[in-house]
Amino acid sequence: MDIKFGGAAQMVTGSAHLLTLDDGYKILLDCGLAQGKGEHIWDLNNSWKFDVKEIDCLILSHAHIDHSGRIPQLVKDGFKGVIHCTHATRSLCSIMLMDSAKIQERDVEWYNQKLRKKRKKKNQDFRVPLYGVKDVKPAMDKFIGYGYDTWYRLKPGVEFIFRDQGHILGSASVTLKIKNGRKTKTFGFTGDIGRPQRPILRNPVPMPEVDYLICESTYGNKEHESLSAQSQKFLEIVKEACCKKKGKLIIPAFSIGRTQEIVYMMDKMETAGLLPKIPVYVDSPLAVNATHIYGTHPECYDENLQEYLLEDPDPFGFNSLKYIRSVNESKQLNTMKKPCIIISSSGMMNAGRIRHHLYNNIENPKNTFLIVGYCSPDTAGGMLKDGIKELTIFGEVKKVNAEIKTMDSFSAHADRKEMLDFLKNQKKVKTIFLVHGEIAPQTDFKMYLGEAGFKNVVIPELGDHYDVSGKKVKAKPTVKKKKKTTTVQERTYPAKTKNRKANLAKKKAEEEATAKKKKTSKAEAKAKVEAIKNKKKKSSTKSFSKKRNKRGMDMTNHWKK
Ligand SMILES: [Zn+2]
Repeated sequence: MDIKFGGAAQMVTGSAHLLTLDDGYKILLDCGLAQGKGEHIWDLNNSWKFDVKEIDCLILSHAHIDHSGRIPQLVKDGFKGVIHCTHATRSLCSIMLMDSAKIQERDVEWYNQKLRKKRKKKNQDFRVPLYGVKDVKPAMDKFIGYGYDTWYRLKPGVEFIFRDQGHILGSASVTLKIKNGRKTKTFGFTGDIGRPQRPILRNPVPMPEVDYLICESTYGNKEHESLSAQSQKFLEIVKEACCKKKGKLIIPAFSIGRTQEIVYMMDKMETAGLLPKIPVYVDSPLAVNATHIYGTHPECYDENLQEYLLEDPDPFGFNSLKYIRSVNESKQLNTMKKPCIIISSSGMMNAGRIRHHLYNNIENPKNTFLIVGYCSPDTAGGMLKDGIKELTIFGEVKKVNAEIKTMDSFSAHADRKEMLDFLKNQKKVKTIFLVHGEIAPQTDFKMYLGEAGFKNVVIPELGDHYDVSGKKVKAKPTVKKKKKTTTVQERTYPAKTKNRKANLAKKKAEEEATAKKKKTSKAEAKAKVEAIKNKKKKSSTKSFSKKRNKRGMDMTNHWKK
């Protein structure tokens, strides 16, 4: 059994790990999009670290785009298997992949237009989208939804189970039980580890004990702010930004998960009479659809939300909240002068409508941007977090005059302490592979795990190939075939035509040889007849000539034997 790391290796996006069982069966764990800006991200998403056509099935941990975003591309490129995930992940993917396809098409169109303006017209410079809207349906046809906590058969001798990971709706850890003769091995993939005591979702459920584990490590060197103070801190920021400074509070948030958490938190504040009377807008068509899906999967809710539903049947809606789908309504927010709260995606500010809010509001010191989640360092969100003073948006340089605030307690990823708690029941694990983290937190987390008794911890690089014990698998030397030199004429003709021509030439040569032979034998025969005639003339008796002729024929037969 071995693993090839095709993404999220020493980085936090593009999750894709290919597990090959001893019998050659190939299971892809996640198929995520690398996110961020720049040519290297484009290149990462344009190549595979494995042969897509050889993969037997895909098991998906959750719907976030950095775990699911390349699925339509995978199917388009020849993946023939099915995709196993939880029911809620399947529902979320149906809207998220369509949204992603539209973004792919739009981004490429924008890029190509830019090239046209620069009058660069070389064909190779223009891009085609990774996949488009038409590629989403064939991909969705391959999804199969499952419930939590039941072992399902993947193929003879291999079973898998999803356990609730409490990260986003439908998120799961994946455990595989693999029989090999009399032995059974267990292999686990944490997916993204959620946090205990988060709103809406249940606490992460420990995985069954495994022999080998792929584990996320996003916050491997960090401990989050206390959850208990979260609502209070959020309320203080709202009052400061909207009541005191009379500006806009803009919250970039993932459409799935973070947006619903913030809305649910404000819903509870409103019910308790704590939320100031300020208009709140969720400006993201995807978030609107996702919130609807959250409403249709109560099987994923925690006990608190189940109870709150008795008090308020709509936990994602209150009087001053408006969901915005249309572009026109979204544009109207740009000219709005009154204080308001705008929640828009994406969380890292690298795509979606939030870029327009960034463009229109970042230079006004009255406004506040509240960053509530992880941002890659090369995204606008990451740069603002790092204190950048100027930002280029839509090709224009903008001064960062607005106030930038951060709240890490919203993170849907466990911190290092929470991750260690999650792993505490793993008493027999032989190897842990760390993925989904930058190298610095990973290195710290490896030490932290070592102190807790987990000794064999590996940090793979992108494209690395390991056996489950943590030893690198050496690439088999490729035997170079000797290149056959062919003439231009040979290359011109297809094989069939070439053979036909060769056969015709051969036949012609044979016919010519036969004709020549016939001619020669005729001449020889004529000469023989003449000779016999002459001998006849010379011989005295008829019977003697006959005898000699017969003996000559016998001789011929003898030689033939
Ligand atoms: Zn995630």
